[in-house]
Amino acid sequence: MATIEKKIKFCDEEISEKVVAKIRQEAERDLKKELFRQVVRKDYKCYQCQGLPRPGDNNFKRCSNCPRVFCGKCSHINCCRTSNRSTLPFSLLQFLPVQCQNTKYGCQEILMEEELVDHEKYCDYQKVHCAKIDCKTDISFLNLLDHWDTTHQDCKVFEEAKTLDLPFDMQAAENGQNWAPRKFTAFGKTFFEVGAIRNNFLFRWVYVLALPDQAEHYFYHATLTKNSRETIRFFGQCRSLVESPDEVIGKEAFACPVITAKRFIPETLPGQDKKTELKYKIKIRCMKDEAKDDEDDSGLDD
Ligand SMILES: [Zn+2]
Ligand SMILES: [Zn+2]
Ligand SMILES: [Zn+2]
Ligand SMILES: [Zn+2]
Repeated sequence: MATIEKKIKFCDEEISEKVVAKIRQEAERDLKKELFRQVVRKDYKCYQCQGLPRPGDNNFKRCSNCPRVFCGKCSHINCCRTSNRSTLPFSLLQFLPVQCQNTKYGCQEILMEEELVDHEKYCDYQKVHCAKIDCKTDISFLNLLDHWDTTHQDCKVFEEAKTLDLPFDMQAAENGQNWAPRKFTAFGKTFFEVGAIRNNFLFRWVYVLALPDQAEHYFYHATLTKNSRETIRFFGQCRSLVESPDEVIGKEAFACPVITAKRFIPETLPGQDKKTELKYKIKIRCMKDEAKDDEDDSGLDD
């Protein structure tokens, strides 16, 4: 059954009501964004942390003695030797958009509250953890490779490969250090194989330079070998650098007690230098490609 489209007369032309509503909506949105730039960015920026109001966090106050504004988190900061503050009006804020939380890394997006969660989840400017566990540099997804190339040139880089021999030295663990990551590429992505010791447990995992929704496609097999009879195997997902080492360890990583790992050090024969290295191997898989290959193979040729 056909519905009759309502038309609105505009000068000599008739325009569909739907189109008019859409134009109106877009104009309203642009106006709100402009208001955000003109009012919120100027009058509500925290003097201390440069933060702007966020949904559910708009407790911004101005120093009673000067024009400096402080957010809720920075309200304890002393200004003009007084803690007297006047509350800024926030009723307007609920009608205005918000800025992506990754502005400091370069994201320029201004979004309505309902679009914010989705945007920030897939925003390329979001914060990631450096693959070198001890490095605490504040970096974004887009900057990681530049940061890596300028700061961690001492870390080993491997040629493109899906299967890699990645022996590691137990001596490093004796000194309570995390292992230096190994960088490699496969399936057109960048990976880092990393290792850490926590509470007498050894953890190793693979980071992929991808946001969590993409990281889901990459898996790895890990094998720690002493000889043909003794092996420890693990199969798990490559983790996104958005996840901190502690998050990864809490989710899934190759794990074994340090005492067990030490048993895997090959025996040192008389006259040899003391052996401290473990035989460790990984194989990377892209499940998305494998699923596609299966589809291509399945019964299309008759
Ligand atoms: Zn602040
Ligand atoms: Zn002040
Ligand atoms: Zn963003
Ligand atoms: Zn770093």
